[in-house]
Amino acid sequence: MNTEDLKSRLVAGERRALARAITLVESGRADHRAQALDLLEALPKDRQAVRIALSGTPGVGKSTFIESFGSMLTERGLRVAVLAIDPSSARTGGSILGDKTRMDRLARDPNAFIRPSPSQSHLGGVGRRTREAVSLCEAAGFDVVLIETVGVGQSETVAAQLSDVFVLLLAPAGGDELQGVKRGIMEMADLILVNKADGDLKPVAMRTCADYAGALRLLRKRPQDPQDYPQAMMVSALDQSGLETAWDAMQTLVAWRRSEGHWDHARAAQARYWLAEDVRQGLLAPLDSPEGRRLLDEMGARVAAAQTTPTAAAQLVLAQLHGSAT
Ligand code: GDP
Repeated sequence: MNTEDLKSRLVAGERRALARAITLVESGRADHRAQALDLLEALPKDRQAVRIALSGTPGVGKSTFIESFGSMLTERGLRVAVLAIDPSSARTGGSILGDKTRMDRLARDPNAFIRPSPSQSHLGGVGRRTREAVSLCEAAGFDVVLIETVGVGQSETVAAQLSDVFVLLLAPAGGDELQGVKRGIMEMADLILVNKADGDLKPVAMRTCADYAGALRLLRKRPQDPQDYPQAMMVSALDQSGLETAWDAMQTLVAWRRSEGHWDHARAAQARYWLAEDVRQGLLAPLDSPEGRRLLDEMGARVAAAQTTPTAAAQLVLAQLHGSAT
């Protein structure tokens, strides 16, 4: 299929075309890359989805939540795409969302699109690819893009820079657990959802929710937040309770940010962030190349043997890499 065909089928909302386009942006092949760039440039720029980052440690119920929440949205007539950022995939070769049976119902829903995270990639690359995948989902007319991330390391930063709303999913737990959530992640959250607020866990969930609501009130006020945000609330992905309330809270936030100009401002700031990030990645890329690794090894041996200084060796490596990069 040529780029023009792919584009028109994608813009018409065909899920197979979307899957194909994402495969294209994930590919490392030079000809695929060129085609991907053509496609991305040709896409309509006036379609915007609500991009929701969903963060939470394994076992907290992300898949169950996505299944229930996503289905609730499609029942309302919205089209929902699900993407994942998984930094661990570089090590394991596996991926979150890889096991689609965990989202059986949503996977079969004609108004949903689920894409497992790309494997074998470092985080810089994941950032770019996920960003491009998000753009493709928007161009394909999806109303909501859920970006799942596993609550470790830099993947939260990537998710925050790709999303309009940041949702942190937590499990009911004693007070000690509150300390376990890194302050940085708390500060990113627009909405904390305490999941598993059902059955025997309900009383603990209520306490946990109150604890987090208290903790959120202590955070510095952000200009992009309306009154009473960020919020903490209870949900049960299993019982499908609290999901409408959570969606209402997201919509209120989105509407306010749109009307106050924070939405456009945040998207513009993200575009700048990704520009700088792509340039940084581009500058670092020669170091990761076989030539770069060989040079570093060779010079490493020489500085280790005190045949030259690190300063002089670094100059030499830079001169050679710049020479080969241009
Ligand atoms: P993930 O690793 O974050 O994707 O978590 P999963 O969605 O796979 O859920 C982990 C476990 O928690 C599974 O056994 C789920 O059935 C269970 N779980 C998820 N959501 C809920 C919930 O709302 N209530 C209860 N009681 N269990 C849940």
